[in-house]
Amino acid sequence: MSDFKIFIKTGKCSSCSKSLVIQRKYNNEDLCPECFTIDIENKIYSTIKEYNLINPSDKIIVGLSGGKDSITLLYNLKKIQEKSQYSNEIIALIIDEGISNYRNKSIASAKKFCKENEIDYKIISFKERIGKTLEDIIIQKKNSNDYEYACNYCAIFRRRLLNDGAKELKGDILAVGHNLTDIAETFLMNILFKRFSLIAQKNIFEVNSSKDTNTYYIKKIKPLMKIPEEEIFLYVNIKNLTYYPSHCPYSKQDPIMRRKVLNFIQNSKNSIPDVELNLLNGYNALSHLLKKYYKIERKNYCQNCGYPCNKIICQYCSYKSVIKS
Ligand code: SF4
Ligand SMILES: [Zn+2]
Ligand SMILES: [Zn+2]
Repeated sequence: MSDFKIFIKTGKCSSCSKSLVIQRKYNNEDLCPECFTIDIENKIYSTIKEYNLINPSDKIIVGLSGGKDSITLLYNLKKIQEKSQYSNEIIALIIDEGISNYRNKSIASAKKFCKENEIDYKIISFKERIGKTLEDIIIQKKNSNDYEYACNYCAIFRRRLLNDGAKELKGDILAVGHNLTDIAETFLMNILFKRFSLIAQKNIFEVNSSKDTNTYYIKKIKPLMKIPEEEIFLYVNIKNLTYYPSHCPYSKQDPIMRRKVLNFIQNSKNSIPDVELNLLNGYNALSHLLKKYYKIERKNYCQNCGYPCNKIICQYCSYKSVIKS
């Protein structure tokens, strides 16, 4: 079931005396399953504290897909909320893109998790907001000259709907389950495609509080940013949390560069175990340096929806008009 390389061996836990341990090659730490889950939870909490990601009065909206990352995030935010003064309310926001035999199942799993943990949730669908499911869009565009990969349409629509849904729920913060591996991958993609202005704009360690953020975008946080993907996989399984384990069928169908970059990172870990942490820190350092060269002055606002954009019409509205016919 797992695509992940997990190193379990006999040895001595770095924190207690137990003998079956998970080996972390990036810092030579050996932890028994119990100490490992405690360490993951401490890491999430300390990331939130270190970077001031949440204020005690914040209403938090959590983007929930039902997969391992968003379930880990929601479970921990709920735990932190119960134990401390963080956040007055947590609501899960589920986006239904309309991918049969996948999203319907992950949503059923997400709803089950919310019920088990007494968390309110809201579902927003592509069908209801943009008039078509992702599958409708792919069928419509598949043979046309301007066809783009499913993930391109999906990412643009989902990002906007998550933002708008979180605003409608009157959230202060949108928490998303991007992990260390996702961030390392995004950074490399931005380098490969020379998206330096994007690197300059997105300091992953800071909660963005620019004028545009307050007016159009809800503040987004990534409390799992220091945890590699395989450790989240291990965490949900040791904790026995309800999550949906399968991948979206489109992630394998389209020959997107992102998958090649991910494979590159996974292979690099064999010889450079801390490669993802290096990329995370590199992202941060470069973002500071590039800020001086890329002044973030938005001159344009979409003529259609009013959101900030670089062109006359934003990508969301542009895709919407393309799929209308
Ligand atoms: S893999 Fe692509 S199509 Fe599937 S949910 Fe993710 S972005 Fe959407
Ligand atoms: Zn231990
Ligand atoms: Zn627009």
